[in-house]
Amino acid sequence: MAPKDHPAVGIDLGTTYSCVGVWQHGRVEIIANDQGNRTTPSCVAFTETERHVGDAAKNQIDMNPTNTIFTVKRLIGRRFSDPSVQSDIKLWPFAVAKGPADKPQIVVKHKGEEKKFYPEEISSMILTKMKEIAEAYLACPVKNAVVTVPAYFNDAQRRATKDASSIAGLNVLRIMDEPTAAAVAYGFDKISVSSNKTANTERKVLIFDLGGGTFDVSLLAVKNGVFEVKATAGDTHLGGEDFDDRLVSYCLDEFKMKHNKDISGNPRALRRLRSACERAKRNLSTLTYTIVEVDSLYEGIDFSSRISQARFEELNMDLFTRCMQLVEKCLEDASTDKTTIDVVVLVGGSTRIPKVQHLLNNYFDGNGNQISKGINPDEAVAYGATIQAAKLSGQGSREVEDMVLVDVTPLSLGIEILGGVMSVVVPRNTIIPTKKEKDYTTSHDNQTVVDFIVFEGERAQTKDNYLLGNFTLSGIAPAPRGVPKFDVCFDIDANGILNVSARDRSSGQKKKITVTNEEARLTNEVIETIIQDAERYRTQDEDCRRKYEAKNSLERYAYRMKNAMKNKSITDTLPFATKMVIDDVIQETLSWVEDNPFPDVAKSETRMEELKSICAPIDHI
Ligand code: AMP
Repeated sequence: MAPKDHPAVGIDLGTTYSCVGVWQHGRVEIIANDQGNRTTPSCVAFTETERHVGDAAKNQIDMNPTNTIFTVKRLIGRRFSDPSVQSDIKLWPFAVAKGPADKPQIVVKHKGEEKKFYPEEISSMILTKMKEIAEAYLACPVKNAVVTVPAYFNDAQRRATKDASSIAGLNVLRIMDEPTAAAVAYGFDKISVSSNKTANTERKVLIFDLGGGTFDVSLLAVKNGVFEVKATAGDTHLGGEDFDDRLVSYCLDEFKMKHNKDISGNPRALRRLRSACERAKRNLSTLTYTIVEVDSLYEGIDFSSRISQARFEELNMDLFTRCMQLVEKCLEDASTDKTTIDVVVLVGGSTRIPKVQHLLNNYFDGNGNQISKGINPDEAVAYGATIQAAKLSGQGSREVEDMVLVDVTPLSLGIEILGGVMSVVVPRNTIIPTKKEKDYTTSHDNQTVVDFIVFEGERAQTKDNYLLGNFTLSGIAPAPRGVPKFDVCFDIDANGILNVSARDRSSGQKKKITVTNEEARLTNEVIETIIQDAERYRTQDEDCRRKYEAKNSLERYAYRMKNAMKNKSITDTLPFATKMVIDDVIQETLSWVEDNPFPDVAKSETRMEELKSICAPIDHI
């Protein structure tokens, strides 16, 4: 538990955007970043001179596509050879290479050199940004956080997210499921414990999360503060970016028709058009029509097109329908009738699209279901994570501290037995922390060595599940098969981190073996190096910031003096020679600023001193 005087934050580390909140004055405060935005692009960019994170990175993507990293959440905790990684790589403008132990590494050019980063490292840069946003707002260091992950994230992905947080200097109080966080944001946990009427009643909450790149639908059953994920469905490649794509294609066709020119081979023009389409899409959530406008889009030709909300809906109707089909699939998987759903919660920026809400309303209408959208959909996950952070750090009000909130294992855990069969030790949705034991025996006579292979997943055959790791017990006393007994213990801590041990009962020898899924994880040495690198990047960023600040204040001062020189009441009092000297030095300073995009702080400061001393006669306005 975090000490009371250290604020703990809730962080939604999203695929396209991230969001941070803190419990303050008895409520959740979602914190705006330095640009005034309450969500920050999960984007990191490397240039010849510096590193950008968040809005600054996203804003320069058009100029620097191969070194601007986004949607890194699709890589975290996965192997390079994972089919989903292989298919994603093909779509990205940045390069991903196979690193040690089949781990993916993102390859960029930074300061003239090729650099490789693990996904954890890039995620840690985003988490550091979120931490800094909170620190700037709270004016004190932030050390503790609850960080959210999708409900379907496996052990490796959760561990990798935890590692990314440690690299960012954050102590993770809890890794929390995103749909659970959204449900907590709406207080569904409390409703079931605080109201007598519903104290023991199970409530069914459907979380409809349509973000920038992914669609997740989860059915939660909430009873006495216990959240059970009954089923999840979704599409890891369905979201706001697909709707943007449709608008882009529409505009490309229109440009071709009007000007007989195909711009699909021009990446820069395409990216500019895409940004304009994303803006238009957002407008169409509140306006019945809007204009997609890009000056000098291609070969000097301006582009302008009027798009109505109805046209936008028509362009995306099959995608919207797919969302509804996945809702049906989720309900089917949970064998739940839609009429029994108590509440539907909207999460993710794309649920602002009126047609999406309309389809959901139609689907659930007339069944007494409510659609909850009181909390900004792109903030709901961070909101719930913040409540959980307040509870775990003891910073919330009585109301928060009284809240009962229990986490469950997202997937079943077990070991492989004869025939490649998955033998479940910890069933899915078991409340954590937990410790479960099961005994196993040998499958052959006189077996002296037994392999324990640990898997995670819901399928009957281990080949369809996710391999977590394996270990071997040897030196077993020879005996007929079925005689030796091994106590296998699965121990899961509050963060969902799993340790497995086995004890050979026949020899009486107690051996404790821990499965840490190391091969999918970064080693401690690598993490240590990354932490040092992160510190180096932080110092470099700080250096850049100081250089810019010194240069900017010099430039601002030069322009102020230039304006002063246009004021006749000032210049008329000056001797001609002085005027000449001042004009020259201002001009010379502005040329120097133009020719030196990245000057040393000392040089800017020296120039500032010189300029100030020469401009002293006019520096009183
Ligand atoms: P999230 O990752 O949940 O923050 O969702 C980001 C996605 O929501 C992006 O694709 C945005 O373009 C989209 N989005 C945000 N606001 C709106 C809006 N008002 N209308 C439609 N889409 C939106």
